[in-house]
Amino acid sequence: TNNILFLALVDILLIISAWFFYRNIRREIKLAKIKSDFVSNVSHEIRTPLALISMYAETLSLNRVNDESKRSKYYNIIYKETQRLSSIVNNILNFSRIDNGKRQFTFSLVDINDLISEVMKNYAYRMETKGFEAQVKLNDDIPLIDGDSEAISEALTNLLDNAIKYSKEIRQIEITSSLYDGQVEITVSDFGIGIPPKEQKHIFDKFYRVTKGALAHHAKGSGLGLSIVLHIMQAHNGSVSVESEENKGSTFTLKFPISKNI
Ligand code: ADP
Repeated sequence: TNNILFLALVDILLIISAWFFYRNIRREIKLAKIKSDFVSNVSHEIRTPLALISMYAETLSLNRVNDESKRSKYYNIIYKETQRLSSIVNNILNFSRIDNGKRQFTFSLVDINDLISEVMKNYAYRMETKGFEAQVKLNDDIPLIDGDSEAISEALTNLLDNAIKYSKEIRQIEITSSLYDGQVEITVSDFGIGIPPKEQKHIFDKFYRVTKGALAHHAKGSGLGLSIVLHIMQAHNGSVSVESEENKGSTFTLKFPISKNI
């Protein structure tokens, strides 16, 4: 019986180690897929602005554009697309800083309405070229918050990027600011594909993208945007939440505590 017991034990150990081996292999395969998807998604995102820059720069360099206003329009496109490229690269760099715990924030008193207006001004070109209309509804009576204005702008831009990416026929985006329950809130709403309830808790995970179900989308992205937004909001003692319905649209809400220094 001792022998039988010993053999059974060896079997059990073999099964357990085979299971661990299988699990590790599966994890490795999953990681390899995440990596290769990431590289292909990011390359795709970078390709569009690069193609535009290259096209307009070539046209200008041939000296064939006589119309002054056309020329200035092309220069503007090159400038804006360069900004877009740098925002994609900054997102990745900031993510990697967050991932190794090195991202730092510089806080000062921030007027959320001014910040939204500034972001929307810089974003107008992107909205326009994609045929979108923005409705901005700012509440005039918003107290200041303690924040890193660059980081908050980045969070807002990531939400706007998503609102555009995941819209369908209705090319409209609503942005609001308000004071609710002692907190300053920013909302960004779209009327696009929405997010299935089961997926909503995962979308803030790094690299996570909704790829299953009838609403699987073809929009490219790194899967980092919302994880960066979450990190920025945590650094502000705030929060980010989502309300969404499939095929109706999504509203993302950023909440900030009011500054105690005023
Ligand atoms: P990315 O957009 O680069 O894939 P994000 O981290 O910004 O990465 O978003 C994660 C996922 O959440 C997206 O892939 C998409 O499936 C879903 N998502 C985010 N914002 C929206 C939105 N406004 N409408 C519908 N789905 C969204």
